[in-house]
Amino acid sequence: MSNAPLEKIIIVGGGTAGWMAAASMAKLLRPGTCEILLVESEDIGTVGVGEATIPQILLFNKLLDIDEDDFIKKTQGTFKLGIEFVDWGALNSSYFHAFGSVGKDMSGVQFYHYWLKMRAQGKAAGIDDYTLSSQACLQKKFMRPIEAGNSPLSNVAYAYHFDAGLYAAYLREYAQSRGVTRMEGKVVDTHLRHNGFIQSVQLESGAVYEADFFIDCSGFRGLLIEQALNTGYDDWSHWLPCDRAVAVGCESVAEPWPYTRSTAQKAGWQWRIPLQHRTGNGYVYASKFISDDEARQTLLDNLDGAPVGEPKLLKFVTGKRKKFWNKNCLALGLASGFMEPLESTSIHLVQAGLAKFMSFFPNKNCDESDVDEYNRQTTFDYERIRDFLILHYCVTDRDDSEFWNYCRNMTIPDSLTQKIDQFKANGRVFRHNGEMFNDLSWFEVMYGQGITPKGYHALVDNMPEEELHKRLEGIKSVIRRSVDHMPTHQEFINQHCRAK
Ligand code: FAD
Repeated sequence: MSNAPLEKIIIVGGGTAGWMAAASMAKLLRPGTCEILLVESEDIGTVGVGEATIPQILLFNKLLDIDEDDFIKKTQGTFKLGIEFVDWGALNSSYFHAFGSVGKDMSGVQFYHYWLKMRAQGKAAGIDDYTLSSQACLQKKFMRPIEAGNSPLSNVAYAYHFDAGLYAAYLREYAQSRGVTRMEGKVVDTHLRHNGFIQSVQLESGAVYEADFFIDCSGFRGLLIEQALNTGYDDWSHWLPCDRAVAVGCESVAEPWPYTRSTAQKAGWQWRIPLQHRTGNGYVYASKFISDDEARQTLLDNLDGAPVGEPKLLKFVTGKRKKFWNKNCLALGLASGFMEPLESTSIHLVQAGLAKFMSFFPNKNCDESDVDEYNRQTTFDYERIRDFLILHYCVTDRDDSEFWNYCRNMTIPDSLTQKIDQFKANGRVFRHNGEMFNDLSWFEVMYGQGITPKGYHALVDNMPEEELHKRLEGIKSVIRRSVDHMPTHQEFINQHCRAK
């Protein structure tokens, strides 16, 4: 095995994951040091969904020096301030998992602890009144953060909704213009070296391409990581039983909202993602509890506007590869595992995988200790997100279908039980080792799903109640005035980034 630097990388797959990998490497690797070839097959196509993101994507765009207005225009994008969850904790309930801060921390204690105390006494309004992003969602307002001192407008946290096909095309143009070579063709075989490393891929045309390193972005089939290397898969469907989705766009009938809506259904949930040219919709469901026909009909019955095209059926098994990086092959995107898009985490996991890969960037021999550490860290990311998703299902009062009865009563991972118990006691949540969702996200979802902690942080009682009341009123009024100052989401788009 050689300890020489990588000279050639082959990326198999040109969906979101493949082109994100190609674009970031084109940007980060010194020109001329490592050739990058991407193979994709138009006949096979991409999964074509994946329209909602989380704020970390701004870092990815920044890394690539992408002009945000240009990007939004070319992907028919809109802005996203959070997700509204409807009918999850109970029928006729709803809450926001909003990006950014909730209230304003006082004396080093999270705002929500003070709020929990006052709310229990009936002396505080709903949490949305103290949360900039939730209020902006409710009023369909948006603006980027501005230099405004202590104002919450300095810290507007946002992400995007975009057309996944246009996003991949955007990155493809970016990567190709920076030296990535694209090859059209179907990979039909993979050849291994004596040490089990991948040596080459063979296309249907008979052409064989060798490389030092391979990135598997071939989607659910996991052409290299699974079919060639037999890496194995951890199946999590006993915790996240949804295994199918039916997706369709529909005509927009109103101005785009600056948020995703997720509505719990009889056997899963339905997403609604507003873009500039249409609204994306899909029903993610458990086939054990509902037929494909019924799911499709439920989706069509719940569209705002006329469907655009035929609904597309997708099948998946929730879980992850036993190794994300195996020998000289890294799996990204759907090839690495799948968790339903309830919190829009898949594209982020591609980004996080790439960021980690760049920090462990290997030589030709792919040192095993680096590979193990990459796998350990990525497993941690996946498991924490998995727990966060399970939370939405297991903390519910819904008993109106077999599906919800299953979810309410299922055994959950110990790591999640511990988080829920700690929150129930005193409203505390700890973020471990930089896990993706912070304490505010956990608070918003746990409280939103219906858990009211028995207590709150002990230091809250140090503040006299009259003072606390005054501060809460002050924060509420600052939030109201800040949102008044924002243009509507549509006005903002019209002014800055309206697609042609
Ligand atoms: P794909 O898009 O499937 O691309 C696979 C590529 O591999 C294609 O180019 C294909 O041609 C190529 N290929 C396959 N086999 C071969 C072969 N033999 N030879 C050559 N090429 C080959 N993520 C989010 O972040 N937010 C969301 O809102 C979201 N919603 C989703 C909803 C659903 C229902 C699903 C299923 C996923 C969703 N995702 C979402 C996940 C997101 O779609 C994917 O993470 C993302 O699109 C990456 O996909 P991919 O590139 O890994 O795979």
